[in-house]
Amino acid sequence: MSSIITLQVLKAKYFRNETFLEVNLKLGCSYTWRSLIWGRELLAKCLLWTVGDGKSIRVFRDQWIPRPCTFKPITRDPGHDVRVADLIDRSRRGWNEEMMAHLLIPADREAILSIPVSWSGGQDCIRWFFDKSGEFMVKSGYNVALSKKTQVSVSNPSFQHKWWNSLWCLNLPPKVKVFIWRACLNALPSLVNLWKRKVVGVSRCDRCSCFSETISHALFECKVVRQIWKGTCFGLRDSVGWLAPPPGLLKLNIGTALRKASGSIGLGASIRGDKGRVLVARSKLLHGSLNGDIGQFMALRDGLMLAISYH
Ligand SMILES: [Zn+2]
Repeated sequence: MSSIITLQVLKAKYFRNETFLEVNLKLGCSYTWRSLIWGRELLAKCLLWTVGDGKSIRVFRDQWIPRPCTFKPITRDPGHDVRVADLIDRSRRGWNEEMMAHLLIPADREAILSIPVSWSGGQDCIRWFFDKSGEFMVKSGYNVALSKKTQVSVSNPSFQHKWWNSLWCLNLPPKVKVFIWRACLNALPSLVNLWKRKVVGVSRCDRCSCFSETISHALFECKVVRQIWKGTCFGLRDSVGWLAPPPGLLKLNIGTALRKASGSIGLGASIRGDKGRVLVARSKLLHGSLNGDIGQFMALRDGLMLAISYH
């Protein structure tokens, strides 16, 4: 409650007719307000629009593509106002790929295709990119501020720029790219990093008890981790047998298949009865490097629509 009252007081005093992101710092303001405005720069750099109907988001000027650093298209701004709503095909409940091919380079199109389109539209809203909840957390803000500070001190900016761009264009789930990005900037909570900030008392790796746990030790060098890498076998999974639903009930199964080579994801849903017979099924192929979790949710949404239509 107290934070809401603080917000109301600050709003009444300093930004009655503007948003927090627009207001300018004026003379004679309080230390609290000046501190908030100081932190706003970092906040603004990592805010991302979540696409609803797309009417409030400017394609080339706003931050809306889940690709850290700029969150904007790499394609040059054509100079006229294009809204995200213009890229959405409402009748097909998806992206208008013809329009996108006309306006954007392939790397941008691929990044945009990984954003799910809301079927119901709704208002566009802003969220903090570095937390799943979308809310700003001091902990993640601190990590981002630290990584940006490290970024400033790099020796060859044009090489670094190319390197980061090629990382963001890789066909990988965004959370993997963010993890790589943070690892490269020494912004993961390894024991050495936590020890430097006096969060823990010792920095020795508790897996091997031999060396300090730096990020490279935790990910590659530790002998225990090397064993895990050796045993890695992608695609080997325990098979789980399908269980029929109880008599009189139906079962909805959903699935996704990522095709990394072609940059596409297949969504499938089927409804089966208690004898295991498939009563109805649906599948769909989408282009773009969709995050696996989002793909699962989209498959679930398709499956539920299938169940509603079958009912
Ligand atoms: Zn170790």
